[in-house]
Amino acid sequence: MNKFEQLGLSESLLKAILDLGFESPTEVQEKAIPLLLEKDTDMVALAQTGTGKTAAFGFPLIQKIDASNRNTQALILSPTRELCLQITNGIKDYSKYEKGINVVAVYGGASISEQARDIKRGAQIIVATPGRMQDMINRGLVDISKINYCILDEADEMLNMGFYEDIVNILSTSPDSKSTWLFSATMPQEVARIAKQFMHDPIEITVGTKNSGSSTVSHEFYLVNARDRYEALKRLADSNPNIFAVIFCRTKRDTQAVAEKLVEDGYSAAALHGDLSQAQRDGVMKSFRGKQIQMLVATDVAARGIDVDNITHVVNYQLPDEIETYNHRSGRTGRAGKLGTSIVIVTKSELRKISSIERIIQQKFTEKQVPSGEEICETQMLHLANKIKDVEVDAGIEGYLPAINAVLADLTKEELIQKMVSVEFNRFITYYKKNRDLSSQSAGERRPDSGSSSSSNNGATRYFLNIGSRDNFDWMTLKDFLKETLDLGRDDVYKVDVKEGFSFFNTDNEHSDKVMEILNNVELEGRRINVEISKNEGGGGSGRRDHNGRSSGGGGGSFGPRRDSGSRSGGGGGFRSDRGSSSPSRDGGFSRAPRRESGFSSDRDRAPRRSESFGRASEGSSDRAPRRSDDGSSDRARRPRKS
Ligand code: AMP
Repeated sequence: MNKFEQLGLSESLLKAILDLGFESPTEVQEKAIPLLLEKDTDMVALAQTGTGKTAAFGFPLIQKIDASNRNTQALILSPTRELCLQITNGIKDYSKYEKGINVVAVYGGASISEQARDIKRGAQIIVATPGRMQDMINRGLVDISKINYCILDEADEMLNMGFYEDIVNILSTSPDSKSTWLFSATMPQEVARIAKQFMHDPIEITVGTKNSGSSTVSHEFYLVNARDRYEALKRLADSNPNIFAVIFCRTKRDTQAVAEKLVEDGYSAAALHGDLSQAQRDGVMKSFRGKQIQMLVATDVAARGIDVDNITHVVNYQLPDEIETYNHRSGRTGRAGKLGTSIVIVTKSELRKISSIERIIQQKFTEKQVPSGEEICETQMLHLANKIKDVEVDAGIEGYLPAINAVLADLTKEELIQKMVSVEFNRFITYYKKNRDLSSQSAGERRPDSGSSSSSNNGATRYFLNIGSRDNFDWMTLKDFLKETLDLGRDDVYKVDVKEGFSFFNTDNEHSDKVMEILNNVELEGRRINVEISKNEGGGGSGRRDHNGRSSGGGGGSFGPRRDSGSRSGGGGGFRSDRGSSSPSRDGGFSRAPRRESGFSSDRDRAPRRSESFGRASEGSSDRAPRRSDDGSSDRARRPRKS
């Protein structure tokens, strides 16, 4: 018997669960489902987004609905249209083997009469945003006087968005006898007030610690000078070739400006904020979901309810005014048990906010240093090398090979590799050669075990290791693995930096023989580990300098090579993902999907809008003719041209 069967779910739900590929219940599901199935009760469940809440209330709800009765029996309120649609689709998926269950989504910005018509046809479950629901009640288009279940999803978000009045009115219209299930990531006073006013002895379940962040998210901060914020963002993107991120800014203006700069600089980015029309926002979200946008730059309000799996990073380009908002931001990553990283780019004057956030999320931040140009080049090159190693050769290239061989016949393997890498990286290297290191020095503020310790590089050796996040390591688990395998002390392994297919770490020079000897003879799940001494020292690189050194570099003013003219393919809507490095590949496993990755095209030949390079060519983009130019690999060489 699998764990879902033990929860008491019906055969038809178990069949749907099998189709969904859920192997075992998440914590909130394990806790909530048996209680909700057992009896009609009120419940307050404290759980972050991404923990499987929809199924936690969706499964028992579907089981309890009387499919032979077409009256509205349940109302699910959720903060945004986006979330509303997601829940609706989730319920449809879960109930696919249940005959006669109808679910209708009700939200603003779409035809109210059509929604009313759908409900009239007999919808047992309505999923609604509070504003539109209130509107429908006022116009007499919906009758919730006989509902048995009311679910408030992301209650804290709904209240944050100013829906208190609507929620109170809606709940007052519904029968007192119904069961209310309230799901919330945090428990601010307003949520507690709703619970007190409208619920009867609710059972309380908590997933993780109250108000605390998700344990699958690690928190990092990068201390920079204010003028370097944007440059730091770019470097973070460059040093994480598979980044798939939401970047948070404080205002609509900053959001738009950062997105525009990123697009101009060759990144696959787009803005999401309230000044966009609904259709524009839908377009952006569709592209983001489809992984055609790699970095979504968003305001807090616009990003509410973003529920996209496999987001690798949340970047706080600026910290929110309300520290509590940080929790909502970081909850966009690390979903469904996957690992995620929440990054804060912070200036000295904001540093104290980090401690306040730590208190709220009850987790520690790791201080990291903005990667140096050398480190980025190394990461990118190794990423490319890994991609070359992993790429499946398409039989379709067969016919072209004789001519290509003829051109390259005189090159040795070594020369070929050198030239191939140079095609990709010459401009990239030139760009970063010119650019100084960024990390703001704040001795005393740094923490000793930060994974990028500020200890002097003198006497340290940096290593490259051929295992990474796809072997299920993050920097902490890799550090533990290395300490154990090498029998080293707690502080002997540092500056651990885990990429998808490889990693870096440092030890003091005295351990280097031991490291090379032991690690090169270790196997990990049948695979030989390979460790090499890296050229870089890591954690800010060899160029880590003092304030004087840095200031002479100028405020990020000397940006690298201007892209070749034709490469501004992002024009117009501008979601360019022509940075080949950018194919999303983390957790979601799209990296393993066949992709037309890394051609070594010149960006000059690139047709406008290469967004497709990012990610799943194999998923939903079949209408796109594969183009050599869209690999984006060469764009890696394309560095920002100005600050
Ligand atoms: P939610 O918190 O409901 O938005 O769920 C977050 C993500 O986790 C969604 O993509 C779900 O499909 C997925 N999910 C929910 N429950 C499970 C489970 N038991 N096993 C694996 N994935 C799940």
